[in-house]
Amino acid sequence: MAADSLPTETEVLVIGAGPGGYVAAIRAAQSGLDVTLVEKDAYGGTCLNVGCIPSKALITATDIAHEASEAETMGISADIDVDFGRMTEWKDGVVDRLTGGVEKLCKGNGVTLLDGVASFTGENEVEITSDGTRQGVLAFEHAIVATGSRPIQLPGFSFDGQRILSSTHALALDSLPDQLVVIGAGYIGMELSTVFAKLGVDVTVVEMLDQVLPGYERDVARVVRRRGEKLGIDFRFGEQAASWKPTTTGVRVSTRNEDDERFEYDGDHVVVAVGREPVTDTLNLSAAAIETDDSGFVWTDEQTRTSTANIFAVGDVAGEPMLAHKASKEGEIAAEVVAGTSETIDPRAIPAAVFTDPEIATVGMTEAEAEEAGLEPIVGEMPMRASGRALTLGETDGFVRVVANGTTGTILGAQLVCPDASELVAEFALAVETEATLTEVASTVHTHPTLTEAVMEAAANAHGAAVHTLNR
Ligand code: FAD
Repeated sequence: MAADSLPTETEVLVIGAGPGGYVAAIRAAQSGLDVTLVEKDAYGGTCLNVGCIPSKALITATDIAHEASEAETMGISADIDVDFGRMTEWKDGVVDRLTGGVEKLCKGNGVTLLDGVASFTGENEVEITSDGTRQGVLAFEHAIVATGSRPIQLPGFSFDGQRILSSTHALALDSLPDQLVVIGAGYIGMELSTVFAKLGVDVTVVEMLDQVLPGYERDVARVVRRRGEKLGIDFRFGEQAASWKPTTTGVRVSTRNEDDERFEYDGDHVVVAVGREPVTDTLNLSAAAIETDDSGFVWTDEQTRTSTANIFAVGDVAGEPMLAHKASKEGEIAAEVVAGTSETIDPRAIPAAVFTDPEIATVGMTEAEAEEAGLEPIVGEMPMRASGRALTLGETDGFVRVVANGTTGTILGAQLVCPDASELVAEFALAVETEATLTEVASTVHTHPTLTEAVMEAAANAHGAAVHTLNR
């Protein structure tokens, strides 16, 4: 990193240059504030370096290889040869381009960039260290904490980067394993499992609950599980990873179920993907009287303000949902509150996407949540097997579902499991944010033949007016 020299004071100090921190820094600088951004590792944080971007690059590359190898029904026979080394070089190139872009954007907006670890020494001061050496102190008027999260270590499965891998290690493998055991069928575990299964790796997924993607509706998750099974993933539900021992080729993981039956699975590595925890240990929060909740996330109010009035916290360190776009939105809000141009957070709709095969995307309320809120929901659905575009893509699994207020027709949420769900959900996010109705979405002309027609048809279906699927 090309850092600036340490100033003695700054109006706004931002700690951490992930999507929460760098967006906060740029937005604060755009408001005419003097901003210093300190980063201990790499610009772009988890998202650009070891999260969203490298994982999506690998997902795209493996999808291309997989689709080409499966295209015989379209008259295409391909003998696919994957050069994993070149694939990872390409992925690393994408990461470098984006992280370099973040640095340029920060500099171009006049943000002072510092390399080092920031640690509070008071409510208006941090100490900066670099490579363990104290660089000095920096006084600030406002601080925005955006220090992110890191993978949780499972007891007995300490990450060593060799046999026991975090998602970060798994995304940086330089050769393809023959076998992989993945602990945890959440979104990170499922995205990684799908990548490696598509590259021909024997993948076993151990999940202590009884479905993939716990937290998502069962019928949504089932579509992804079925596709995973077709890819050869061996799902072991209701089992808890208990211990591991080294083997000549890697590692043997022992699990047990609730009847105390024991099972063993071999892998070249085991990937532990059981969740993420906030990074606060380098911050010395108590020196600034910043409070955390029981899980260690920094407590914030609806303005992203912490228990100390001039200090804000955004992104993963401030809790769920741990998503890059939520971090960026909070970063913008914190900067605007500091600049006096925004009052409170009002994100009605934070979409979430899982880049499995097919993709899942959700926004707003499920039917059950709307019922619980007493909104007497109505639901519309469009199965992808009835979508002309889905048929031409050879991708007919899944559906688009919309949930609306039964009295007003206002769209409350949507759940999608289909190709490009991560893109399609944007229309529903806009609908939820602007309180659009089913009629407004259903009467908007959508391009043919596209997957977006499924959004329109699902909205029409809720009123019994869909044309391309039988109405409920
Ligand atoms: P981070 O991106 O974690 O950045 C925090 C930064 O703070 C880091 O650079 C860190 O080095 C720095 N830092 C920490 N402590 C200090 C200190 N004391 N001093 C100075 N610097 C410090 N989200 C999505 O929305 N979509 C996805 O597809 C997606 N895929 C993912 C895939 C994987 C494998 C993983 C692991 C995550 C994924 N995420 C995804 C989640 C996303 O990466 C995070 O939600 C996002 O990065 C959070 O941003 P942040 O700014 O809060 O923190």
